[in-house]
Amino acid sequence: MTDLTFQGQPVHSRLVRNLGALRLSRDPRHRLVLQIPLGAPDNTASLFLQGLSASFTPITSTEAALLLSLHSAAPELCSRLQVPVPRVELFHSCKLWGSCDWEHGIVRLHAALAFFPQSVREEALLHELCHLRIHDHSPAFWQLLTAQMPDWPYWEGVLRQRKGKAGTTSVPAL
Ligand SMILES: [Zn+2]
Repeated sequence: MTDLTFQGQPVHSRLVRNLGALRLSRDPRHRLVLQIPLGAPDNTASLFLQGLSASFTPITSTEAALLLSLHSAAPELCSRLQVPVPRVELFHSCKLWGSCDWEHGIVRLHAALAFFPQSVREEALLHELCHLRIHDHSPAFWQLLTAQMPDWPYWEGVLRQRKGKAGTTSVPAL
């Protein structure tokens, strides 16, 4: 993986055992080094660097762990939905937990999802991935979502309880 770059600079990758260690930093020779957890999917590094470039802001280790878990979960969910794997990015919307740009193949999820249980994060991801097939909230959309995750209303309910706070601050107070 010598062809990785970040903002035009070459990135050296290093495999590490610590699962939460996905991180971009500089080594003593000022080279960019990306730590990649052993066993992470092959495209983790490039997707992670894409997410970093798109977010424009420094990413925290909590957000990096969230991005890694979303990138790990997306391919299987997409193959079940028979849609191409989109680019997955984090954002800090004040109103939305997620959005889907189906024309460009980009799914964006709120960085604060990092503080929610795994099932809430998966439901939020699945909801946006379903929009790659069905763009609106028609009955067919809810049927598709229910077929993939029958208990989605419970997990979406957990997010809804926080929605008021998401509307008043850039990141929901958790
Ligand atoms: Zn939706």
